[in-house]
Amino acid sequence: MKKIQMVDLKSQYDFIRKEVAASMESVFESSSYINGPMVQEFQKELELYVGVKHVIPCANGTDALQIALMGLELKPGDEIITADFTFAATVEVISLLHLKPVLVDVHPRTFNIDPEAIEKAITKKTKAIIPVHLFGQCAEMAEILRIAEKYNLYVVEDNAQGIGATYTFPDGIQAKTGSLGHVAATSFFPSKNLGAYGDGGAIFTNDDDLAHFIRGIVNHGMYTRYYHDVVGVNSRLDSLQAAVLKVKLKYLDFYNERRKEAALRYNSFFEGHPNLITPHRLADCNSHVFHQYTLRLIDADRDGLVAHLGKHDIPCGVYYPVPLHAQKAYADPSVKEHTFPVTNQLVKDVISLPMHSELSSDQIEFIAKTVLEFLT
Ligand SMILES: *Cc1c(COP(=O)(O)O)cnc(C)c1O
Repeated sequence: MKKIQMVDLKSQYDFIRKEVAASMESVFESSSYINGPMVQEFQKELELYVGVKHVIPCANGTDALQIALMGLELKPGDEIITADFTFAATVEVISLLHLKPVLVDVHPRTFNIDPEAIEKAITKKTKAIIPVHLFGQCAEMAEILRIAEKYNLYVVEDNAQGIGATYTFPDGIQAKTGSLGHVAATSFFPSKNLGAYGDGGAIFTNDDDLAHFIRGIVNHGMYTRYYHDVVGVNSRLDSLQAAVLKVKLKYLDFYNERRKEAALRYNSFFEGHPNLITPHRLADCNSHVFHQYTLRLIDADRDGLVAHLGKHDIPCGVYYPVPLHAQKAYADPSVKEHTFPVTNQLVKDVISLPMHSELSSDQIEFIAKTVLEFLT
C-alpha cells in the first residue's frame, strides 16, 4: 500500500503530467507570463464551469476575499457577519479594511454559519454576510439570501473550500457555489479541490459594474493605463499557474466525485458508531465536495486518536482548534463566550482524515479500521 498522505498531489500529478507539461510549454513558448492568453482562456473556462458571468483571477484566495470586499465600497466600522468556525483569512481581510467582523456561531451538523445566528447579529451597521462553504459543503444559501434581501445586505461567498459544489434551492433550481451571492472568492492553493502548483485565487460575480470595478482594483486601481482612479492592489494569477489550472479544471468534477466516493466509503465504516458523527450532507444534493472529511468525536480522546493514527503512519488534521473569537488578533471584550456554544464544542471534537482524489479503497479501509481499533 502506498504511503498515506493528507493530500497526495504527486499521485494526482502522475496522471496529468503530459498535459500539464504541454500546457506550461505553451506559456514558455509564448513568453507571456503576466495576464497572457492562458490566464484569459482559464478565466473563460472557469466562468462557464461555475455558471457565472465574470471571473477575475488574482494572486490567492485571501486577496480574492479582500478585493471582493473592496469592491463593495464599505465605510470603516461597517459590520460584516461571518462564521466563528473557519480559517482566519475570512476575518483577517475584514479587519485589514477597517471593517468590523461580527462572528456568529455555526450549525452543529453542517459546521456552516447558522442563519438564525446571522439574523440575531444584524444591526443598523451590518452591510454584508460572508458565508464560508466549509469543508466543501455549501452553506444554507436560500435562507442566507432571504435574510440578505430582507435587510439589504451583500452576500460574499467564501468558496475557497467549496468549488464544484452545487446548491439546490427549495424550488429545485440548482446553481454552483460561487454563483449564488453578489460576489464570491476562491483559492487555488495547491491542496484545495482545484489547486495550482503555487498560489492563485479568483473573484466571481454576475454584476457587470462590480466586475469592471474589481478588474481595476486588482490592477493598481487603473482603468486607463497610468490613470489611477481608486486605491487598488497588485494581485495577479500568473500564466504558469493558469496553465496548470486549465488542465485540472477539466478533471475537477472527476476529482470531486472521487472525494465523494472516498467519503461514502469512510461513512460505511463509521456510521452508527456511538463515538462518531459522520459528515452531514444537505438534503440529497451535490452540495458537498469534501474538501475535508471531518468527523466529530463524542466522548473520545482526540489527542490519543491523533497519536494512535500517527503511530500507524496515518496523518490527520484538526481544522480548526481555536474559534476565531478566541484568537488573540480578533479578541473583542464585548463578545460573550456563551454566544458560541457550537463552535466552542466543535473545536474540541473535530478531526479530519486524509481526503483527496487518489485515496485507494485499501487505504481508506486501513485508516477506518485504525480509527475504530482505537475507539473500541
Ligand atoms: C484557503 C482558504 C482561504 C485563503 O486562501 P489562500 O489562497 O491560502 O489565500 C480563505 N478562506 C478559506 C475558508 C480557506 O480555506
